[in-house]
Amino acid sequence: MKSAVVVFSGGQDSTTCLIQALKQYDEVHCVTFDYGQRHRAEIEVAKTLAQQLGTRSHKVLDVGLLNELAISSLTRDNIPVPEFEADLQGLPSTFVPGRNILFLTLASIYAYQVGAETVITGVCETDFSGYPDCRDEFVKALNQAIALGLAKDIRFVTPLMWLNKAETWALADYYHQLDTVRNNTLTCYNGIKGAGCGHCAACHLRAKGLEEYHQDPVGVMASLRHKTGLQ
Ligand SMILES: [Zn+2]
Repeated sequence: MKSAVVVFSGGQDSTTCLIQALKQYDEVHCVTFDYGQRHRAEIEVAKTLAQQLGTRSHKVLDVGLLNELAISSLTRDNIPVPEFEADLQGLPSTFVPGRNILFLTLASIYAYQVGAETVITGVCETDFSGYPDCRDEFVKALNQAIALGLAKDIRFVTPLMWLNKAETWALADYYHQLDTVRNNTLTCYNGIKGAGCGHCAACHLRAKGLEEYHQDPVGVMASLRHKTGLQ
């Protein structure tokens, strides 16, 4: 029996990963991290989606300590979230230092407990946000360290690593869940579900990807199949 733990925020990317995991694994567990993010709605959205999509278990872990240590516009009301900028230099204010180091480590411990051999995360290098802990090189290095530290062959899987946002929409559509992702997930930095606020950097990326997919669904789907090997 194959089982997996999905690092699940209730956003577009992790929801798409969850939809795919439910098709590919016999048992899927979700873990959501409560780090005191400004938008509490994220946790509720994740809970509802995990239940609707039908996961084996959904654990919401309190990692409030991250909020104490890491200052970011996602954890502080007085730091503005970034609007979209074409040539952003350096790290955006939404960067929460150490977030994925902590999340992937905790998800691995959870995987160990529930006997899952795979940890799935929706991180992506293609529409690179500048977050160093979303890079393939980092994920692979941490995977190696965790497998050694747990003395268990836990495998990190990153289904979206080389997909662009249009292809991520195509992936949801491939599983006939495009509307679920479009209407029921929360990606917006201003905490608005579905189409979001429309002007933050996350909304911009999401809307642009959907538009690109709608402009050429056949071409984008073909490129998705080519990159992923899906039939
Ligand atoms: Zn937004």
